[in-house]
Amino acid sequence: MEIAENIKAVFSKIDEAANKIGKKRDEIILVAVSKMHPVEKILEAKEHGLMIFGESRAQELLQKYEMIPDVTWHFIGHLQRNKVKYIIDKVALIQSLDSIELAQEIDKRAKKIGKKMPVLIEINIGKELSKSGIYEEEIDEFVKKVSEFENIILNGIMTIPPVTDDRNKTRDYFKRMRFLYERLKQINLPNHDIKFLSMGMTDDFDIAIEEGANIVRVGTGIFGRRM
Ligand SMILES: *Cc1c(COP(=O)(O)O)cnc(C)c1O
Repeated sequence: MEIAENIKAVFSKIDEAANKIGKKRDEIILVAVSKMHPVEKILEAKEHGLMIFGESRAQELLQKYEMIPDVTWHFIGHLQRNKVKYIIDKVALIQSLDSIELAQEIDKRAKKIGKKMPVLIEINIGKELSKSGIYEEEIDEFVKKVSEFENIILNGIMTIPPVTDDRNKTRDYFKRMRFLYERLKQINLPNHDIKFLSMGMTDDFDIAIEEGANIVRVGTGIFGRRM
């Protein structure tokens, strides 16, 4: 019951934000962040039409995938290199590429199973020591290196901005991401197909959409508080 109502509320907020900038709901991809929520809740969300789920830990993803293989899974957390081999065949998008060493491992494992793995680069837009991701200044060099991996396809960028009550500050971070995104789109490199700007979570996905996000990642707003 509650999840159904939450989903409705999230979609109407997506509609409203998309309308403001002349976009349609179906131009925005909603990733339901199911980390730390039980399988029953995911199944309930699936019954109400959600199809893409995001997990941030490999072990947890594997357990859930086994029980619910027929939805689309995104990996959204810091990924350890030694876990890549377990998830490479199960996820449609790795949203959190944060090092060249990780890219190397993803490329190697993707090659082994004959896959070209779609990834987003995680940007540490607030330069927070507690967060992974690369800095804005590093992006050109990073992107060039990533383009050399034949079994990776770079689809865009993702961020988690610093926590703040000031929505204007959050908006500024999103604007900077939009700028980076548009610039990346202009770059011509192999294995480079920039089409996703992933930003916005429960408290700020409306602002993110207004600033150009086309993937939003919503956990609490759908499933309630994590256990
Ligand atoms: C947990 C998480 C989310 C969802 O956060 P909520 O505030 O619960 O919506 C989104 N993105 C990432 C990368 C996360 O780790």
